[in-house]
Amino acid sequence: MKVFVVNCGSSSIKYQLINMDTEAVLAKGLIERIGMEGSVLKHTPEGKYTVDINIDVPNHSFGIKLAVDALTNPDYGVIKSMNEIDAVGHRVVHGGERFADSVLVTPDVLKGIAACAELAPLHNPPNLNGIKACMALMPNVPQVVVFDTAFHQTMPKEAYLYGLPYELYVKYGVRRYGFHGTSHKYVAQEAAKMMGGETKDYRIITCHLGNGSSVAAVKYGRSIDTSMGYTPLDGLVMGTRSGEIDPAIIPFLMEKENMNAEQIDDYLNRRSGVLGISGLSSDFRDLESAAARGDERSQVAIDIFAYRVKKYIGAYTAAMGGVDAIVFTAGLGENSSSMREKICAGLEYLGTGIDGQKNKVRGKNQEISTDEAKVKIFVIPTNEELVIAHDTVNICRRIIKL
Ligand code: AMP
Repeated sequence: MKVFVVNCGSSSIKYQLINMDTEAVLAKGLIERIGMEGSVLKHTPEGKYTVDINIDVPNHSFGIKLAVDALTNPDYGVIKSMNEIDAVGHRVVHGGERFADSVLVTPDVLKGIAACAELAPLHNPPNLNGIKACMALMPNVPQVVVFDTAFHQTMPKEAYLYGLPYELYVKYGVRRYGFHGTSHKYVAQEAAKMMGGETKDYRIITCHLGNGSSVAAVKYGRSIDTSMGYTPLDGLVMGTRSGEIDPAIIPFLMEKENMNAEQIDDYLNRRSGVLGISGLSSDFRDLESAAARGDERSQVAIDIFAYRVKKYIGAYTAAMGGVDAIVFTAGLGENSSSMREKICAGLEYLGTGIDGQKNKVRGKNQEISTDEAKVKIFVIPTNEELVIAHDTVNICRRIIKL
């Protein structure tokens, strides 16, 4: 069964075509600058060079058609015709409280995703555009949606309610939702496999550390808490996002810096985080080299980041009554041995210990804890596309007996 996995951002489309009989990625691609000048499709058939197609892409419908044309192109395509696509799996950012699992697209589901756009105004509308474009292009192919928030719908009220008047939750759904759900779910499952069991057997803390970062407490297979909240701005200090701050800073900024709501949103989402602290970059590679050259603010940005992750690990160990494994994933978590070491330094009292030699790993599944450690530590590259493709296959087999 071949699954086309689609991830539509506001001005981008990422896709993969996966043969789910072997889990082999047949091709992947990225369209950027949709609706802007200079849009480009970078299409990579597995094991071959990337083909750059420079063409104006006015909207997502055009982009989806372009991606499918690339997949079926006689020179660099990987399938003969669109009919070889058995199902499409879409990433949707926000499923609110309505979607606790992946679902087959129906008119009612489309309405539900549109209703959740209030919670994710930048993300759900382009996600919806991608789904509609695929439905128009491939009307007889089943479409499945996988939500970033769904995995965290198992959180109990004490984890997801804020200390705000309850009416706000009832009226507008203001609560913690959490994000990166597919990633947390995937790496927790992989870690459980590497320990010889299933997620129901373990208490796992998953650290998704990239440009956007979040930590989740996965207790016996269920997410019971996570650091992102009502929006992906909460929790850890990130590349450009502030993470949790004292809410009283917002009226202070409004008064002192004369900012309105839109400016505050921009300030906290795009000008804060390690970029704001260092004044240099949101990319940890830049910060690590600047810190090595003696740049103090880059060093303090790295220290703050690591300290926050460490605090969450402590908090979630308490929340789960112990921890069996800690997992590092995403750009920074998978690649930066020094950040992993810094985060875990001082956590030995939990029974952890990093093996310096094993920790040199980059971008592949590996246990990096010492042989004596009671708590296992893993590096596991995330694979959200594979989770989406798996859910798509499972739903198609279960519901429409594909
Ligand atoms: P992601 O959002 O998962 O794609 O992660 C991207 C971020 O990971 C980048 O902005 C960097 O901060 C970080 N990153 C990627 N590779 C490395 C590396 N080799 N060393 C340190 N940080 C890295």
